[in-house]
Amino acid sequence: MTIGKIIDGKAYAAGLRDTVADGVAAFLAQTGRKPGLAVVLVGEDPASSVYVRSKGKMTVAVGMESYEFKRPVTIGQDDLLDLIAELNQDDRIDGILVQLPLPDHIDEASVIAAINPAKDVDGFHVVNAGRLATGQEALVPCTPMGCIMLLKDELGDLSGLEAVVVGRSNIVGKPMAQLLLAESCTVTIAHSRTRDLASIVHRADIVVAAVGRAEMVKGEWIKPGATVIDVGINRVTDTEDGKSRIVGDVATAEALAHVRAITPVPGGVGPMTIAVLLRNTLVAAHARAGLAKPEGL
Ligand code: NDP
Repeated sequence: MTIGKIIDGKAYAAGLRDTVADGVAAFLAQTGRKPGLAVVLVGEDPASSVYVRSKGKMTVAVGMESYEFKRPVTIGQDDLLDLIAELNQDDRIDGILVQLPLPDHIDEASVIAAINPAKDVDGFHVVNAGRLATGQEALVPCTPMGCIMLLKDELGDLSGLEAVVVGRSNIVGKPMAQLLLAESCTVTIAHSRTRDLASIVHRADIVVAAVGRAEMVKGEWIKPGATVIDVGINRVTDTEDGKSRIVGDVATAEALAHVRAITPVPGGVGPMTIAVLLRNTLVAAHARAGLAKPEGL
């Protein structure tokens, strides 16, 4: 029995951060300033705090300026919108990221809509979503952008391949489908109402699972030789030793017997997300400075 390849997202992300660091040095030499990324964190959710800290460290590690704006969970919507307006005006800042989720009393859509699309490094603004959908230059959501980079690295030209994306969220599933379409794949988007998911997945040369259900996609669903990108991050508790661990949306051990290649969880798509965020910030900095997009990005 042949075993498929495990795609090393950690290594690819490290290479991408190196490319970004070179681009940052060149930008500094050209413009006399470093690109700047502002991260806004509302409240004290431990997972979000860890994530924001890690973003800050990696931003500095590639040579950019990192700005953190922590606000209490009680902040009013108007005050948050005022902060976004200030960051939009601040010339040192090329990228603005508002850590989601926001507290219930704040309307996320209004906050995202307030971000200048040129600084929307998460790619969530409707202007960027519209640009992506219409084939224009856009800031693209980080996770799906990371997935398409891994796929192109693994498969080269994706044109004509049959792709199935499971999940239709605005941050992963939908932009993922748009990116695959832009690469001339034949794209199917599946979701919770899809009938006979197994046979739809079985058609695919490329499967992207972005559902949030532990090991839902079974090995036998996968067409032999398909490439699988597992976006899911699910914490499960082992029944034997009671310890918790992270698994993806795909039953990886089973799938390995069928796939050409698959991303592991952890160590596949996860590390790509922050690396692409840094890449998007550098791209935004170039566009704001009227410079061409740096090579290799
Ligand atoms: P959402 O909950 O927003 O979307 C999940 C999607 O899965 C929905 O479209 C839903 O369908 C669909 N779905 C749910 N149940 C089924 C089912 N039984 N069969 C088929 N489709 C189903 O999640 P996200 O897109 O935000 O995230 C998806 C996963 O990716 C999560 O595990 C998340 O933690 C992970 N993630 C990982 C990132 C990373 O950096 N690696 C970044 C972002 C997310 P419907 O629309 O019909 O409800």
